[in-house]
Amino acid sequence: MTNFADLGLSETTLEALTNVGYSEPSPIQEQTIPALLEGRDIIGQAQTGSGKTAAFGLPIIEYIDPDGPTAQALVLTPTRELCIQVTQALRAYGEPKGVDVVAVFGGAPIKGQQAQLRDGGHIVVGTVGRVSDLMQRASLILHDCRFVVLDEADEMLDLGFLEDVEKILMQTPNGRQTALFSATMPPPIRKLADRFLYEPEVIRVQAPTLTVDTVEQFQVEVDQKAKPDMLVEVLAEEKPTQAIVFVRTKVRCDQLYKRLRDRGMNVKALHGDMSQGSRDGVMLGFKGGRVPILVATDVAARGLDISTVTHVINYDVPSSPDVYVHRIGRTGRVGRSGRAITFVEPRQKGELEAIEKHIGAGISPWAPGATTEPAAVSEGPRRHDKPEVGRRRRRRSRSRESEPANGSSPDGGEAPATDDTAWAKLVVSAGSADGIEPADLVRVVTAEAGIGGEEVRDVKILERFAFLSVPEDRAKGVVEAVSGADCNGTRLELEPAGR
Ligand code: AMP
Repeated sequence: MTNFADLGLSETTLEALTNVGYSEPSPIQEQTIPALLEGRDIIGQAQTGSGKTAAFGLPIIEYIDPDGPTAQALVLTPTRELCIQVTQALRAYGEPKGVDVVAVFGGAPIKGQQAQLRDGGHIVVGTVGRVSDLMQRASLILHDCRFVVLDEADEMLDLGFLEDVEKILMQTPNGRQTALFSATMPPPIRKLADRFLYEPEVIRVQAPTLTVDTVEQFQVEVDQKAKPDMLVEVLAEEKPTQAIVFVRTKVRCDQLYKRLRDRGMNVKALHGDMSQGSRDGVMLGFKGGRVPILVATDVAARGLDISTVTHVINYDVPSSPDVYVHRIGRTGRVGRSGRAITFVEPRQKGELEAIEKHIGAGISPWAPGATTEPAAVSEGPRRHDKPEVGRRRRRRSRSRESEPANGSSPDGGEAPATDDTAWAKLVVSAGSADGIEPADLVRVVTAEAGIGGEEVRDVKILERFAFLSVPEDRAKGVVEAVSGADCNGTRLELEPAGR
């Protein structure tokens, strides 16, 4: 078995690897590190989660002269999220050697980044737009930059950055070493590689070894119209710790997010039309585990390393087999198992077959009850009978006591009023997993909102959140007064439950 020392890394870098807890190289690292250390250009076709950041990061660290005053390496990323992620990783890898890594990205004041660049930075990690901008202002000078990485190049293409990428590359030294990473290889990316890479070694980590082994994959045949209900059912059954629900377009992303939110779920949306600030907020919430469900488009969610994602739900069939592999790579990260469930409209069966062919395995039908069986990851997807509607309906009406951990509220359901008072149901952002019991909640609500105990009813504590009802005319005041309050060390957020 190869270890990191066999790959030609120095003692200092090995020390960094011990610090971050990597014991053996991943397949992409095993192939990429020696090639880059030899000075070759490479094309790495690998998805997020494969360990590609260390695959290019470790050789860069080896190469950096910590006494050099100028930028010696540039890593270009399509998004700010990926930029921050890569920067954090490179800082950890370069710490023992004293390598300085500067992150430059849009949506943050340029002045601070200019100052950091003036102070020096051995490696600059930046989004395409901000790097171009800083170069135009002569704040970023790449004369001594002998190592360039294009990370997630296909996403740069999707976002329309390819021309800018070319301009940046043209301003770096001819003798530079270039590494291009891309999950897919559409023709414009091939062309870019032909033009800017010198006899690259192509390193491809086969999709099946990355996904089938660690991700249980299922399909659900469902009509377009029935998808929202099916999604609620799947979430209720699967009880994901964290799930990403992928949709094809920004508009569908927003629509689905609103539908789930209106059902009282703790859910957030992530797509490219959102402001950078909102995207950061959503990402922090999701990464921090406060948001269990993220509805996202491919572009917005790509490159994100979220190791706690237990489920990927393809609400829309991915536009290509490559995208499928890329999406489900969000779960089943190194050493963990995950589940991927793909919704297939009857007319899309052919698309699913293409995916099955690509991954070299059949995708079994999903059925309620699957999660009660012990996991059988190494045996691949399990076979289940197709769910039939009657059975599903019965399950749903029975399942009120066991609401999903992730937060779907009962279907509507105003609190049963025994008098003339109209009651409003509120969702609380914490539950039994936070050590909260009904009495705690009533105590905090009555104290913060200044209402009597009899005005809080139908308290129901679920794993990650809770419900309670208050008189409708007090609801707004209660939400305002209690949101932000502390309950057994957990900050509470309240909002009206969806109708
Ligand atoms: P990446 O594909 O670079 O985004 O890496 C995905 C995740 O795998 C990150 O959380 C890394 O910290 C982790 N990782 C990368 N290489 C290794 C390794 N050799 N052993 C264990 N974890 C790793």
